[in-house]
Amino acid sequence: ANFPARGEVIFENVVMRYRPNLPTVLAKCTFSVRAGERIGVVGRTGSGKSSLVVALYRLRELEEGRILLDGSDISTLGLDMIRGSRMSIIPQDPVLFSGTIRSNVDPHGLSADADVQSALEAVTLWRAVALQGGLNAVVEDRGRNYSVGQRQLVCIARALLRRPVVLVMDEATANVDHETDAIIQTAVRTLFKNATVIEIAHRLHTVMDTDRVLVMQFGSVVEFASPAEL
Ligand code: ATP
Ligand code: MG
Repeated sequence: ANFPARGEVIFENVVMRYRPNLPTVLAKCTFSVRAGERIGVVGRTGSGKSSLVVALYRLRELEEGRILLDGSDISTLGLDMIRGSRMSIIPQDPVLFSGTIRSNVDPHGLSADADVQSALEAVTLWRAVALQGGLNAVVEDRGRNYSVGQRQLVCIARALLRRPVVLVMDEATANVDHETDAIIQTAVRTLFKNATVIEIAHRLHTVMDTDRVLVMQFGSVVEFASPAEL
């Protein structure tokens, strides 16, 4: 349950495709993220940014290469560890469970109401949720009564309660207004200070204050340097 402890993430020559007859979407992809580092990932649409998340979350088998979390090959770790409480992934278009806001933010019912509310306040969702019945606000099938940005904020609130060592954020592209985008950016920046943060971004300004920016192209890393050097 205490794994990973430090949060170092290494991709070594990772090759992945979605189906055997399709082209590779990760092509000898290699990079290392130091424990506690905050990196931005940029690249054109289709360059493989979200596929990094797919590989890290073990949603597809790798064809070649390996991914190391604190030195351990993730293919040898249980899925419950990969998808456990110490690594949180905020997908580009998150799906919520039908139920309540509370059950989405705290699926295992481990936190006190006050803490769930604080997490929602921290991501500035509480005002909107309070109008819908507070913690018992209804979440419809897949979260369709929430916007993409709000669904991401719900996932960030969930991650907040878990205090992950690794946070991977795949910024939403569609229909996220500037205000929500700014809220998400600030939340990720301030609330996960000690975590390793991998932040996939669609706007360059989002990554200007990261430690390093990784540029993807055709499934490979073409640059990985401090924002000032790019
Ligand atoms: P965006 O900026 O639009 O989010 P991205 O960099 O995240 O793009 P990926 O989603 O990683 O790009 O896609 C990389 C390639 O993989 C693209 O050619 C895409 O069409 C393909 N792809 C993505 N998901 C699937 C899937 N589930 N099945 C088949 N091909 C896929
Ligand atoms: Mg993507």
